[in-house]
Amino acid sequence: MPANPGLPSLVWESDSLLPIFPRPLVLPSLRSLSSLALLLGMALALGLDAQTLPPGESAFSPQLLERSDVDRALEWIEENFENQVAEWILINEIPAPSGLEEARGRYVAEQMEAEGLEVSVDGIGNVVGLRQGVADGPTLVFAAHLDTVHPIDTDVAVERDGEVLRAPGIFDNSASVANMLAMIRALERTGLQTAGDLIFIGTAQEEVGLRGMIHWLEENEGVADMLIAMDGGLGRIPYGALGIYWSWFHFLGEGSHTNTSAGRPNPARALSDAIASIYELEIPEDRGGAVYNVGMLRGGSVFNAIPERASFSVDLRSVNPVLLDSLQAEIQDRVAQAADGHGVRWEMEEENRMPAGGTAEDLADRRQHPLILTAEDVYGFLDLPNEPVASGSTDANAGVVRGIPSISVGRSEGGDQHTLSEWAHWPSALPATRAVLLLALSLSGVADSPQP
Ligand SMILES: [Zn+2]
Repeated sequence: MPANPGLPSLVWESDSLLPIFPRPLVLPSLRSLSSLALLLGMALALGLDAQTLPPGESAFSPQLLERSDVDRALEWIEENFENQVAEWILINEIPAPSGLEEARGRYVAEQMEAEGLEVSVDGIGNVVGLRQGVADGPTLVFAAHLDTVHPIDTDVAVERDGEVLRAPGIFDNSASVANMLAMIRALERTGLQTAGDLIFIGTAQEEVGLRGMIHWLEENEGVADMLIAMDGGLGRIPYGALGIYWSWFHFLGEGSHTNTSAGRPNPARALSDAIASIYELEIPEDRGGAVYNVGMLRGGSVFNAIPERASFSVDLRSVNPVLLDSLQAEIQDRVAQAADGHGVRWEMEEENRMPAGGTAEDLADRRQHPLILTAEDVYGFLDLPNEPVASGSTDANAGVVRGIPSISVGRSEGGDQHTLSEWAHWPSALPATRAVLLLALSLSGVADSPQP
């Protein structure tokens, strides 16, 4: 992979007590039967195979922090946190609009490679780093999307203002990309081995319909046992999938000069009736709820003619797939009626279709999955907000609708995402990074590695 010329390189601290490069063997070198016994004991104690944990059990135990290697890894994150923030800024300043993530992806791939991961870049531009486990354990996928909603020529230079970083994309999602790299380094530099495989993905094209994540899941069916999207602020822990349908409705007519317009079909009037009618829809309260919005209006070009075309957009959302589809059908019916009433044609353009993952009731079993319970415990243990919610609109959605236990976890505090005044509170990325590390270790299981 070619180097990124012109980018400063940061110096990361290593734990000098442990061999760092090249990576230790993928199998633990067991020096005696007693260490084998210890490993097995540890595996049982820590629940190495989360898939076999009965529902209702968390894989996190505060005893995990009594291990000196885990403690060292958490400390490593803190000691190197200034570098992490510097790298966060560096990542943000590599422009990465959806579909144009290559340069940012190259940086991430280089860092993963330098840490000894098996790195590949797939057909859509996802950067995938595999860190093999050393025993039987579930395969955990961590995904941090590389792309931003900001066009390539946006000024993405970061302004540091006390505890706040300001720049488009700084919160969504360069924070998570930096957290993910810090987590990889903390594992590598302290020699921590997990039982199951860890797969780290810098995903492409998340902002335009989770395309990178969907691509990876389709090409790698059956690989991920659990999926953790690193996205969103610190707050709730979404384990569901908010369905989102974006549609354009176009009304089309022949047009006419104002002087000859009386009684002629008018797309603008059909549009107006349709919008009024849509806002009379009743949303049932007991089925997970739904929300919708007419956000854009287009049409016409002069004062003195009936427009030949008038359009509006609808953003419809629900966690309930049945409700989502029935409301969409109802909206289309009302559009058709309004068009008929005015003698104009209509067309629908599907801009985006993100499937819904189900209501809290539908996901009751999922709510009891070790992934969700462990996340709840880890975030609670670190005094971070930890309320699981049966919703979500991140790369995790792609996992939820494919039946893979999936959550999304926060990167830092921040706000105004998708705007030019986006900001992030950098100190909060420290507990967020520690949380993902503890989550990985708890769910995958820590294998005992020889102590120096
Ligand atoms: Zn995002």
